[in-house]
Amino acid sequence: TGLIPSAEGATPAMAQWFALKAQEPDALLFFRMGDFYELFFADAETASMALDISLTTRGKHNDLPIPMCGVPVAAAPAYLARLIRRGFRVAVAEQTELPRKPGEPPQKGPLARAIVRLVTPGTLTEDELLEAGRQNLLLALSSPKKPGKGEACIGVAWIDISTGSFETACVGPDHVEEILAQLDPSEILASPAIVPGPFAARVAPNVAVPRQDVAKQRMAQAFEVAQVSVLGDFDDEEIRAGAMVLDYVRRSQAGAMPRIARPLRRGEAGTLGLDPATRASLDLVLARDGTTTHTLLASVDRTSSAAGQRLLSQWIAAPSTDVALIRDRQDGWRWIGSQPGLIDRLVPLLKHCPDLARALGRLSAGRGLPRDLAAIRDGLQNADLLVEILEPLCSAETPALIRTLFSGLYGRADTLLGTLEKALADSLPARIEDGGAIATGYDPDLDHCRSLRDDSKRTLAALQQRYADHYNIATLKIRHHAQLGYIIETSALHGAKLRERPELTFRQGTASLVRFTTDELLGLDRAIAEAAERAALLERRLFAALVAECVAHPALPELAALFAMTDVLTSAARLARDGSWCSPEMTGEQDFVLEACRHPVVEAALGKSARFIPNDCALQPESRVMLLTGPNMAGKSTFLRQTALAVILAQAGLPVPAARARIGIVDRLFSRVGAADDLARGRSTFMVEMTETAAILRQAGPRSLVVVDEIGRGTSTLDGLAIAWATLEALHSQLGSRTIFATHFHELCSLSDSMPRLTPYTMAVREWQGQVVFQHEVRKGSARRSWGVHVAQLAGVPLPVVRRATRLLAALERDQSHAIPALPLFETADAAAGAPQEMCRDALREALEALDPDTLSPKAALETLYALRKLA
Ligand code: ADP
Repeated sequence: TGLIPSAEGATPAMAQWFALKAQEPDALLFFRMGDFYELFFADAETASMALDISLTTRGKHNDLPIPMCGVPVAAAPAYLARLIRRGFRVAVAEQTELPRKPGEPPQKGPLARAIVRLVTPGTLTEDELLEAGRQNLLLALSSPKKPGKGEACIGVAWIDISTGSFETACVGPDHVEEILAQLDPSEILASPAIVPGPFAARVAPNVAVPRQDVAKQRMAQAFEVAQVSVLGDFDDEEIRAGAMVLDYVRRSQAGAMPRIARPLRRGEAGTLGLDPATRASLDLVLARDGTTTHTLLASVDRTSSAAGQRLLSQWIAAPSTDVALIRDRQDGWRWIGSQPGLIDRLVPLLKHCPDLARALGRLSAGRGLPRDLAAIRDGLQNADLLVEILEPLCSAETPALIRTLFSGLYGRADTLLGTLEKALADSLPARIEDGGAIATGYDPDLDHCRSLRDDSKRTLAALQQRYADHYNIATLKIRHHAQLGYIIETSALHGAKLRERPELTFRQGTASLVRFTTDELLGLDRAIAEAAERAALLERRLFAALVAECVAHPALPELAALFAMTDVLTSAARLARDGSWCSPEMTGEQDFVLEACRHPVVEAALGKSARFIPNDCALQPESRVMLLTGPNMAGKSTFLRQTALAVILAQAGLPVPAARARIGIVDRLFSRVGAADDLARGRSTFMVEMTETAAILRQAGPRSLVVVDEIGRGTSTLDGLAIAWATLEALHSQLGSRTIFATHFHELCSLSDSMPRLTPYTMAVREWQGQVVFQHEVRKGSARRSWGVHVAQLAGVPLPVVRRATRLLAALERDQSHAIPALPLFETADAAAGAPQEMCRDALREALEALDPDTLSPKAALETLYALRKLA
């Protein structure tokens, strides 16, 4: 893409473009011209490629053609969505002046234009641009210029302008990545130096950090308080971050500030600590590959509305450590599940509840459509229905959360509902400019103008008949013409004889037709235009008043939140309905018992093809460290992850896929399972592994849960064994965390003699005719062997190599020194002199002979088929 040339020598229209472009140089400029948004110069080149639309030229700038492309205004949202998704930002410049009407003096120079909106990933409100079930956050980070003596605090503030929520937090520099991973903002305002690598691409360009005093002033002004301290107890850096988001929202909305709730401070204390590596290993809301199908969220989501889905994903992304809060949620969904038939009455209601929060967001940003007002009306009607359902069921025993819900919904906005029901027409136009949004009977003035307009139209019809009779021209018509207004139109032939009539004023003639007007017609034309104009004006005013009433209504945001909560609680009740999910008992102690626990995502993925084998997991204080051995593919990582996921679900207040569970609140969860692939950051696998081990050892404590897989695998055997051993000792004896430690080092099992709280477990494996059968069952004891050679064979390593490995293994096991034993070399001992292909065929035959079809499960059979194909 080329550069934007200098503005010198530009035509007046292009000079205007240059001036606007200079205001937002980092955004593509959508420049309104008639029914199109046009893009010029480098913007045009970029957009035409990104959108796959044709690039042309328009006019010249300093003798060179100006590259140009354009998108129709009506189709702009779809194009905007594509640009935003690809990481572009767009400034929209509209005409701020109306074109001259006929009869007015002609326009001098181009119409005035101004940027009315900066469209960026974090400042969206339109449904077309948003994902329904996902929050869309704009987040700012502010760090002190000179860190003081104490613990440095990075201020974090985030806003979802589509719903108006606003929160802040103060985190240590080590926890910036953690909170970013938790909130997953769409756009970040910060100096790039403090944004961790994986989030660098989301940083908005050129954002200034305001001075402390200015920031305080901005925050206070935005919420109309004298002093920012009235809003709550915020750290200085939080206020700066808060002012940054507010400033940016104001800039993106070209000064029009949407309604934003007062900031809420989020203390770090209340949420379960999940560092980015833990989050990455668990696929909570997004899978590692960025998809959403195989995630914890998808496996437990039974919500009926987008707002419910957004709230559920927040609960899962930030589980709590507050026993009371967790129990409240559990009581809530258990109560819903315990009322006969309640779920089935709530689900259809929730399905039909419009997205109140987002409708409100659009209304408050000044982009509200008639259907957004209808959404508020329907939402309020649904609230009444919900109250009707709940009222007869509520008693003194009803759990607190349901009672809050009930009192929050009860008759909170009756007047507003009455107004909206009366004001909105039955069938609504898409835009207020289209007319007809306000119902007849709501406003006498409007009704009057409309009937005047419509009566005049009837008069027009009568007039046409009268003229036709009078002049004896059956084909005479009265038509509306864009420039001339209402005129009489006849064919040129008839027109000739009318030219003589003094009462008719000739207006226009073409080869085929002639147009006249009369004083009577002129009068009517004016009356109709005035009535229509006045009706449109009144309608816009009434609409604006209704919007203002909705935006100012204090109960609506709360109502939206209550609907979302009802949906999440109902979703949990549905999940628990078939009895295979339990409500875990939460305690303030260090208990940890899961009975017959499952991995919800793996279980769902297995579907009907195979049964998921549930496993128990007990990490009670006297035996809180589990040392897990067993071959690859036996189900170790699945077991580790399901234990971690059970904690997340339990502390989110949701049902757990187990027969029974008792969990003492976990303060931080560390999960290191699966390939830690961080080569992009230029660190070797072993370095990553050790960095993550270090993070655990520095942060884990007696209330933490640590699940780790294969620490020490990335280095030589003895090195690795030593590191694993020392780490295990530290977890067992110093940190006292509840731990599952999966390892290939069977040697560690003997440590159970010297570590009283360590218990060896192993994945059950059955040997059958020299083959290994995985039973996916966790048992006390230690694995006798690794079966690595067998897995190698399953994976398609050629049989001669497998055989050779078996022999070497036997020799190594005999000689404990780990020195390379003096065995004959590969070529001379094992390799049949044949070509590699020969080797394959040999391997294939052997594998086929070793097969026992009668003992294979359908899944194992399929896996074997794949393995066989690899051999061929
Ligand atoms: P490991 O970590 O020991 O290599 P995994 O946990 O990755 O093994 O499991 C391998 C495969 O075995 C999984 O993809 C899954 O299909 C299956 N599996 C694991 N655990 C179970 C279980 N409890 N019940 C049924 N199948 C399981």
